[in-house]
Amino acid sequence: MRSPIDDYLHGLLERCRAQDGGAVADYIPELARVDPELTGICLATIDGHVYEAGDTHVPFTIQSISKPFAYAMALEDAGVAAVEARIDVEPSGDAFNSISLDPASGRPLNPMINAGAITSTSLVSGGAGAGVSGEERLGRIVAGLSRFAGRPLAVDEDVAASESATGHRNRAIGWMLRSRGILDGDPDATLEVYFRQCAVGVDCRDLSLMAATLANGGVHPLTGERALAREHVQQVLSVMTTCGMYDAAGNWMVRVGLPAKSGVGGGILALLPGQLGLAVFSPRLDAWGNSVRGVFACGELSRDLDLHFLRASRPAHVAIAARHPVDREPSRRRRPAAERELLERVGRRGIVFELQGDVLVASAERIIRAVSSEPVDVAAIDLRDAEYVDPPSVRLLHATAARLREQGRELAFVERAGRDALGVADASEPLVFPDRDSASEWIEDRLLARHGGGGLGRAACSLDEHRLMRELSGEQLAQLAALLQPRPFAAGELIAGVGEQATEVFLLMRGELSTSVPLPDGGRRRLSTVTPGWTVGEMAVLGEGARTADTRADTDGDLLLLAADDFHALADGNPALHAALLRNMLTGAYELAAQLTRELGRPSGAGA
Ligand code: GLN
Repeated sequence: MRSPIDDYLHGLLERCRAQDGGAVADYIPELARVDPELTGICLATIDGHVYEAGDTHVPFTIQSISKPFAYAMALEDAGVAAVEARIDVEPSGDAFNSISLDPASGRPLNPMINAGAITSTSLVSGGAGAGVSGEERLGRIVAGLSRFAGRPLAVDEDVAASESATGHRNRAIGWMLRSRGILDGDPDATLEVYFRQCAVGVDCRDLSLMAATLANGGVHPLTGERALAREHVQQVLSVMTTCGMYDAAGNWMVRVGLPAKSGVGGGILALLPGQLGLAVFSPRLDAWGNSVRGVFACGELSRDLDLHFLRASRPAHVAIAARHPVDREPSRRRRPAAERELLERVGRRGIVFELQGDVLVASAERIIRAVSSEPVDVAAIDLRDAEYVDPPSVRLLHATAARLREQGRELAFVERAGRDALGVADASEPLVFPDRDSASEWIEDRLLARHGGGGLGRAACSLDEHRLMRELSGEQLAQLAALLQPRPFAAGELIAGVGEQATEVFLLMRGELSTSVPLPDGGRRRLSTVTPGWTVGEMAVLGEGARTADTRADTDGDLLLLAADDFHALADGNPALHAALLRNMLTGAYELAAQLTRELGRPSGAGA
């Protein structure tokens, strides 16, 4: 399918062709030979798909677009401090070839004007003192540019010779740099490298991939090779942003708003960090030495595709997707009545906060404010749907957990299996749960302990206390007791497995059992944990089908079994008892169904 993005680029190409101002650079004689009508536009994604329109495979020389890349290599090879000692990072507002240095320090104002760029070239491979020849330095530069482009590039020797023959102004700059001690050694040797660096041949597609490599944090989207250490990307993009378009940089920032670099060969490269790279080629230049159609196309692209990097029309993401107080959304632990009553009163003081999107400082602040200002004793922050938590937010969340602890409150986290956004894998604090259900259960336990409910959980119950016996007469109780079979179990034992024929109902008298279903990813989802007084397996018996979940013992304990046949026989033999049992079983089943229904209605689905 032809993408609408292709259609858009071709439409833009036609609009570009209507722009016929400007003139081809002729101060380098060889550049004047180019067809001024050539125009190409490329958009490269950070996964390496390139959309192309027009003359995107016509070679031209990279010229000044080599400057940010040579600066990047200087940063890597000589180190940030050595580079900054010789090249400032201030926008100059001067023309690209201005003969100006900072009066006090003698430093070129930035690496994008020729004075700074020639200095960058001299610092690649560690500078003149590093004992590298011009040839080696050029080799490093061409290889470096090739890594950004993702294919081997080469110098156009005709253009290089042409510039060398006429590059008196750049030589003047070079000698001036030498006189201020910014260049070491023979400036002419550095200039020859610089001329060749500027004469490296590229096409529009190459430039878009070089831009996409910068947008992708320094890694080429197709080759996967790292062209620049991540730590230097920000510095390179910063000088492109403030100085990349020379004395037109302010206007560019207002109209286009993307880090960019132009060259007198007719190329412009621009990028939106994290999203895409753009390149335009068209040789006619404006008074600042920037491609007329290139500037036009970038302005249109930025406006039409909403690319201005300072565009703040979209408010920062609301990071809290949902709040789950445990009084309204309890865990799947079926608790004894006394615990449930207490939790109905105090459960709103325990909340799971569910986050979404990217957690950056502004959203972390909202979460912290919510957790610390609400009357919450025990909370958990569910990070599983957060795509990313940035390092400052991680620090703030840890500090919040520690601060709450000092105040006698508690904060835990829920995190996806296999990811450790908080970097707490082996720590005992804060607690991290794999799903919301287990975090909710922990919150309930903590709330019970805080509010005097620690003793309410019961290890065992008697027959008359069992929920299935509610409203049974003493006589009915005795009639039923005669049908029940004792069945002890040990921790870990499988009591009933998925698919087995349901032949009995389990009355839990002592210990704990959990029912769960296997998930396609190999994990399990808990349906419930039951405590003494609860019944398990009645649903399958009532439906006369096979077991739909596994029931496993969490502790040692005791069951009483009611055989399905005995139960069904009561319909004729003891209809009153049958009806009472049926009512009690249905009550339990509907409580579970109601909870599952509530969970399905929540934003995050079943919400395990
Ligand atoms: N090689 C050219 C020069 O130094 C590069 C200038 C440019 O592209 N703006 O003059």
